[in-house]
Amino acid sequence: MRRIVIIGAGIIGATLATRLAGAGADVTLVDARRPGAATSATSLAWLNANQKLPRHYHDYSVRAMHEWRELTDGFGRPDWYVPTGGLSWAESDGGRHALAERLDRLRDWGYPAVELTPRQAVELEPALHVPDTALVAYFPGEGYVHGGPAVDTFVAHAQAAGARVVVTGGDVVVEAGDAGVSAVRLPDGGRLDADVYVCCAGWRTGRLLEPVGVAVPIVPGDAPGSSAPCVVTRVGGHGTVSPVTRVVHPPGLSLRPALGGGLQLEAGDLNDLVDVHTTQEDLDRHGETLLRRAGQVIPGLGGQPVENVCCVRPLPVDGHPLTGWLPTLPNTYLVVSHSGMTLAPLLARHAAAEILDGTAHDELAAYRLTRFATSEPA
Ligand SMILES: Cc1cc2nc3c(=O)[nH]c(=O)nc-3n(C[C@H](O)[C@H](O)[C@H](O)COP(=O)(O)OP(=O)(O)OC[C@H]3O[C@@H](n4cnc5c(N)ncnc54)[C@H](O)[C@@H]3O)c2cc1C
Repeated sequence: MRRIVIIGAGIIGATLATRLAGAGADVTLVDARRPGAATSATSLAWLNANQKLPRHYHDYSVRAMHEWRELTDGFGRPDWYVPTGGLSWAESDGGRHALAERLDRLRDWGYPAVELTPRQAVELEPALHVPDTALVAYFPGEGYVHGGPAVDTFVAHAQAAGARVVVTGGDVVVEAGDAGVSAVRLPDGGRLDADVYVCCAGWRTGRLLEPVGVAVPIVPGDAPGSSAPCVVTRVGGHGTVSPVTRVVHPPGLSLRPALGGGLQLEAGDLNDLVDVHTTQEDLDRHGETLLRRAGQVIPGLGGQPVENVCCVRPLPVDGHPLTGWLPTLPNTYLVVSHSGMTLAPLLARHAAAEILDGTAHDELAAYRLTRFATSEPA
């Protein structure tokens, strides 16, 4: 039986472990932290292909959304998978123009996308205040996932199929020899040996592979001024009822129900202002801005507990997934992606096939590390 060590138990490592263990491989999933406690737990986790360009990336994302549906059907539609659609609106001239163009493009591409009147939007989400002049788009095929419990479920399925889970309390390192990776070294000095090593380390992938000579073209998440970190705000404690039921994008804000109650908020322009060195005081200040914006679309949000955290996206430099065997470490496979919540189940299906059968999946051809190879001057 092939022994496979997967480094990283976020949504990517967990879905892949389920696939590989389910196919009969001898799988060990190793993580420094509790599975699902890193980026996958704080992600907005909007399952969508809404602004995924070019066309091949859009199509891959659409297929991934179908994969989520099939996969969770098999699990009896768990409550952490919430396919309630997505709602966006625009108010400024520029915003309306961009949203109208997006609606046209998505409808041309066969993606479920309908224009609603503001009144129809409020019928869908009665807590929202949508201005009469807004252009509103509804995307009924979209949804979101609560990443933490999703990872828990996939890890439990992998374990039921025989996978071992090792939580180390500190980062592991990979050791390499002539034939590729020779072992994963644990913080206590122990080692994991395998026939195949799979790197699913999220935004820390660069740091994991750099010591063995692999430069992964991913934004360094902990560098000062990095574009990978985000500020995420939770409003309302556990047990409070969320005022909305779906992912909503008013101008300058993204929101959805948080795990266990309340709302999760974020905004692209505020993400640009934070990095992992941002103080809690500054995160709280950005949280106040998010809360103020949210209060404009959902009146009466004040007076609830608020929590503001910084979390880091895995960002390949061109925004597209990186997946496949590493050219210089032939026994080692890489999967790292932004939009990893949307793409994980499909990436896991294709990666598992490549790892187990040695097949090369055409659909992954656009997402190889080799696309960054520079040609030698003549
Ligand atoms: C604020 C925010 C919003 C987002 N919104 C969306 C969205 O709407 N839709 C979408 O599809 N995606 C979204 N994303 C992106 C998505 O969340 C990620 O692509 C996805 O969670 C990545 O999963 P992962 O398993 O690769 O990483 P992670 O969940 O970070 O898991 C990686 C694991 O590897 C472990 N690890 C790393 N290095 C080591 C080491 N050396 N030793 C041991 N363990 C190690 C970590 O501890 C971690 O548990 C968002 C991300 C953020 C931060």
